[in-house]
Amino acid sequence: MNNVNPVLGIIGGGQLGSMLATAAKKLKIKTVILSDDPKAPAKNFCDEIIITDYNRLKKIEDFLRKVDVVTFEFENIPFNILEHVSKYKPIYPKPSINQIVQNRFTEKKFVNNQGIKTTKYVLIKNRTDLLNNEVFLPGFLKTCTLGYDGKGQYAINNKDEIDDLNIDFKKEYILEKKIHLKKEISIIITRFLTNDYLIYEPIENFHINQILNKSVIPAVIDEKIFTQAQQQAKLLAEKLDYVGTMCVEYFIDENNNLILNEIAPRVHNSGHLTINTHNVCQFENHIRAVCNLEKIELKKNYNAEMINIIGDEIKTYRDKSYSKNEFFFDYLKKEIKEKRKMGHLTTINSQD
Ligand code: ADP
Ligand code: MG
Repeated sequence: MNNVNPVLGIIGGGQLGSMLATAAKKLKIKTVILSDDPKAPAKNFCDEIIITDYNRLKKIEDFLRKVDVVTFEFENIPFNILEHVSKYKPIYPKPSINQIVQNRFTEKKFVNNQGIKTTKYVLIKNRTDLLNNEVFLPGFLKTCTLGYDGKGQYAINNKDEIDDLNIDFKKEYILEKKIHLKKEISIIITRFLTNDYLIYEPIENFHINQILNKSVIPAVIDEKIFTQAQQQAKLLAEKLDYVGTMCVEYFIDENNNLILNEIAPRVHNSGHLTINTHNVCQFENHIRAVCNLEKIELKKNYNAEMINIIGDEIKTYRDKSYSKNEFFFDYLKKEIKEKRKMGHLTTINSQD
């Protein structure tokens, strides 16, 4: 356990970076953010920000000189940059995890190798592969890399739709069979350098057009699924030798099967409500883990519902007044864009 607080470097300056920096401030930990976006909203919340393209090693070295330990807020940072960072400063979670999880195909293979069920999927490299895999339709074609919030995804019902979608076959994809979803849940777990864990109870998620719309705690699910989801998340964190907070997203199908959707090697949108429901939120736990601070047992104080505020919906939320049970978070993004996450609203309620 450290006696002097380290300076934390965070790669990425979006809302997750902002919330990490806010949690760090509470723990009296200084944060330096590295971002390629001059308008990065996290600059409003951190102690210092360095703006640079991620491939400018000179700037990365400046960043590394200022920090004691490094983490990141999004998983798509080029692997060679994370590797470079790891030569000079400890970085958590470790870059090799990103290499597995950045690519949907290697991610799913890894999950299956642990004996955990995912959707049925196949690697698609060209149009012929797609035409030859009609058995996976209706399904979702997803880019192997760099997809998020439903970006880089095509819902395909049948073969006849394929040519109208103008799919860019310079990229690789996976084609996943469509699941008839009964529910979606996520598990937020924090693993510490000491191999200890903290696992939040499952969170139930509701998506609109493949973007998270609402997260609710408690999830209304069977005890069996509750336990199975937590056990799988714990197994994966252990196998990955993960340090920090991560999220595992699951589908539950009509027959009550638990099907792992994806792993996010970072704090996650569905865990934002933990800021208001728990004694220690997902962001603080991430910092406690990567900075090797004390682990505090989790205690839930409230149930809650969180709504994502997308695009120009933010304007009405900025003008509203809120009750003492409502917590409005404005990400302070300079530009409003369609489908862009601009803020969220968490409403807490008592546990009975
Ligand atoms: P992202 O990386 O963009 O979050 P996901 O793979 O998690 O991509 O997909 C986003 C959402 O789209 C899911 O949470 C789910 O609501 C829907 N979806 C994705 N794949 C499937 C599937 N195979 N069957 C049914 N719904 C799906
Ligand atoms: Mg997802």
